[in-house]
Amino acid sequence: MIEIQKTTESKIDKTNFDNLAFGQVFSDHMMECDYKDGSWQKPIIRPYGPLSLEPSARVFHYGQAVFEGMKAYKDKDDRIWLFRPEQNFERINKSSARMAIPEFPKEYFFEALEELLKLDKDWIKKGFGNSLYLRPFVIATESGVSASAAKEYKFMIICSPAQAYYSGEVRVKFSEKYSRAADGGVGFAKAAGNYGAQFYPTNLAKEEGFQQIIWTDANSHEYLEEAGTMNIFFRIGNKLVTAPTNDRILDGVTRKSVLKLAEENNIEVEVRRVSVQEIVEAARKGELKEMFGSGTATVINPIAGFGYKEQKFELPNMDDSYASFFKDTLMKIQYNETEDLYNWTY
Ligand code: PMP
Repeated sequence: MIEIQKTTESKIDKTNFDNLAFGQVFSDHMMECDYKDGSWQKPIIRPYGPLSLEPSARVFHYGQAVFEGMKAYKDKDDRIWLFRPEQNFERINKSSARMAIPEFPKEYFFEALEELLKLDKDWIKKGFGNSLYLRPFVIATESGVSASAAKEYKFMIICSPAQAYYSGEVRVKFSEKYSRAADGGVGFAKAAGNYGAQFYPTNLAKEEGFQQIIWTDANSHEYLEEAGTMNIFFRIGNKLVTAPTNDRILDGVTRKSVLKLAEENNIEVEVRRVSVQEIVEAARKGELKEMFGSGTATVINPIAGFGYKEQKFELPNMDDSYASFFKDTLMKIQYNETEDLYNWTY
């Protein structure tokens, strides 16, 4: 059983749910669980608030930290749903293992989620696009700057109300120089440093008028891998193509759901390496019909155009857009508005 300390002063009435910037406001409660003396201690749910850590805590020096991103949705009857949460659970432990962080017990994870969502259920608003973004994460808290794996950690879950938002048209730059991940590295893990290292190249791309980067393989920069927080799909003719997951690419929950939906709906899919050359040529010939990203934050994010070296390409507007089909289908499942054929909701 989780110990619960309820807040005495909810912030919900002071929160403007019609004007939420992503990840800026947090709900009333958070979960905290410490690892020490070789085991995870009893989890506790308490009011959201600051932590106190030694400046020498390992996480500040060596980035020994991993995280997850998931969402809770509310249906028309006020029931709360998670989408394939066991995938996030398994993935955070895979990320942890790579970062020499002890794995977290499954029963703690699910009990904490359930208790948190019961306590903070009013922070989840109904309606397509509204959700409570859940951010489980683990940090190395042991003090002392010796460069080795810590013996003490903190596993936490914080929750942030999120709104459907229109991010504007997204144009992406294919990376020619910078890499996100390497063979044998940590690209497949949601390790904190993977994200920090993307900010600088992304800022450079922004200066050129692109919102995001599509990372290419570190060896040749000839193959397209994924975006900063999304896996990436290409529609060439009526065929859907995406890169296989490996050491360098995050095994996205949305990605695997799109692949399943494509298969079930007779959309031809190829999971294989996708070269920059192939996409540039398909765009030139008018065969590149769509490009979209998949990820928990925006579900499916259509891409309006891309840049490679000095060239810029625009994508057409499709009436029978695959992106819209996948987004609609996934959201209906997430909000319990259709039959859950694949047992994805929890
Ligand atoms: N790639 C990266 C690098 C990501 O951070 C994310 C977000 N978790 C994704 C892809 C999409 O994964 P998911 O569909 O599980 O959110």
